[in-house]
Amino acid sequence: MNTILQDKTIVVMGVANNRSIAWGIAKSLHNAGANLILTYRQERSKQKLEKLLAKNEIKPKMVVACDVEDDDSIKQAFQEIGEQVGTIHGLVHSVAFANTDELQGEYAATSRDGYLTAQNISAYSLVAVTHEARKLMTEGGGIVTQTYLGSERVVPNYNVMGVAKAALEASVRYLAEDVGKDGVRVNAVSAGPIRTLSAKGVSGFNEKMSVIEEKAPLRRQVDHDQVGDATLFLLSDLARGVTGEVLHVDSGFHIMAGS
Ligand code: NAD
Repeated sequence: MNTILQDKTIVVMGVANNRSIAWGIAKSLHNAGANLILTYRQERSKQKLEKLLAKNEIKPKMVVACDVEDDDSIKQAFQEIGEQVGTIHGLVHSVAFANTDELQGEYAATSRDGYLTAQNISAYSLVAVTHEARKLMTEGGGIVTQTYLGSERVVPNYNVMGVAKAALEASVRYLAEDVGKDGVRVNAVSAGPIRTLSAKGVSGFNEKMSVIEEKAPLRRQVDHDQVGDATLFLLSDLARGVTGEVLHVDSGFHIMAGS
């Protein structure tokens, strides 16, 4: 336990289960004294999320529905948060989606619908939630999203999601400029491969994990706690001079030629 985020209220989007990266982040933030607000997409996920929180003895300030495909849902979620909690100091965006049939084979075969779905849920959603969240960040704060190396390099099968992550990272920079004048920072963590529900959808995912152990400078896998702690750093005052940045938490894999 530490007190880095004592008295700070942070919204965490994207906990689907205990394997979600957002869950690793929620635990790091909780251990740093933050008050948590969690969002879920579908009503049936709510109970699961509440059980997970109770099992880990985490009492959130709120658990609220938010489907990032739906502008009204986003507006309503942040309105409810504003009414019940008031000021927030941070937002974690750990949300992405692409159809599994677009995460295999050639990128050149991507359908228009598949392209737009990936962009909509995985990249535009950061813009939409930043727009609403900043209204509640009256004391400044941090926004952190989750990206992946497939935005910078061609990672086999990552395809449409790599292009969506490139848009997401560009959005981090443009948003950082817009909200910087309000004392709000926007950054991304680029994590190495971690076994989650979403990761299962990417064809050949196991090979992506094993190559980290073989070739990354640290020669070991990345886990949820490492991503959680890096996200905690970016949300905290320790990173008060950092915005528009993509921080790689990948055992150093991205620096290697031929990686
Ligand atoms: P996950 O499946 O646990 O999380 C994805 C989350 O997105 C889920 O909670 C899901 O409910 C949510 N989501 C999807 N559509 C939504 C919608 N319309 N509205 C609201 N929420 C929606 O998988 P994860 O791997 O923890 O993914 C979290 C983030 O981390 C994603 O952005 C992913 O691209 C990124 N990431 C993952 C890895 C990895 O190897 N797992 C590596 C780098 C980055």
